[in-house]
Amino acid sequence: CGIVGAVSTRNIIPVLLEGLKRLEYRGYDSCGVAVLNGGLQRARSVARVSELESQIAQSGLEGSTGISHTRWATHGAPVTFNAHPHFSPDQSGVNRIALVHNGIIENYEEIRTELKALGYVFESQTDTEVVAHLVNHLYDGDLFGTVQRSVKRLTGAYAIAVFCKDEPHRVVGARFGCPLIVGIGTNENFLASDAMALSGSTDQILYLEEGDVVDLQRNAVRITDKNDQPVERVIHTVSAYA
Ligand code: GLU
Repeated sequence: CGIVGAVSTRNIIPVLLEGLKRLEYRGYDSCGVAVLNGGLQRARSVARVSELESQIAQSGLEGSTGISHTRWATHGAPVTFNAHPHFSPDQSGVNRIALVHNGIIENYEEIRTELKALGYVFESQTDTEVVAHLVNHLYDGDLFGTVQRSVKRLTGAYAIAVFCKDEPHRVVGARFGCPLIVGIGTNENFLASDAMALSGSTDQILYLEEGDVVDLQRNAVRITDKNDQPVERVIHTVSAYA
């Protein structure tokens, strides 16, 4: 039920976990984090964010590009293999795309059937996993353009955050029917379900509109609207939360 994403030069795990804690009030049944560190790495849990945190402390997971998620299951039981982030591998079997999603993809069965016929193997019961494989399938070396094209295939409601092992300093977000905001930092930028999730990291917040896709890099944020036209969204200074 919540999303956080970041591109930075520092280890971003503390921001990704702190953001999830600040989103806990929304309710959730499982949680997870993925970062890029050479390859895609993740930790997932059906317990609290604090349990995910201990798991990560033990495994030493870290990275400067990443996404995190609290899940409120709509498709598939609240078990670890259904928890986000979901991965999709390239043709040599190396995980290439990592994706989190809030909402419901109404036409997921149709897309899943198509992708299965193309050889994609599904490891979860979620509607979300089709989006990970779809982005991977359409991937042409430019994640931003790929997400723009991918979301045109989706019906339903979504906020998504996705990154790719081949574009290490980039996270792409998109929203339709679910909230997603951008936080502007210094040499780092963030995505989250709400501004409160980023308090402590930045108070410079920009609100995405329906159909927006955002290209998040360390020193640049680029947004296009539902018609793929470049747009500027106003940056607001929000009051800090304790
Ligand atoms: N529909 C997705 C799932 O069941 C996302 C649910 C959510 O919004 O957390 O995994």
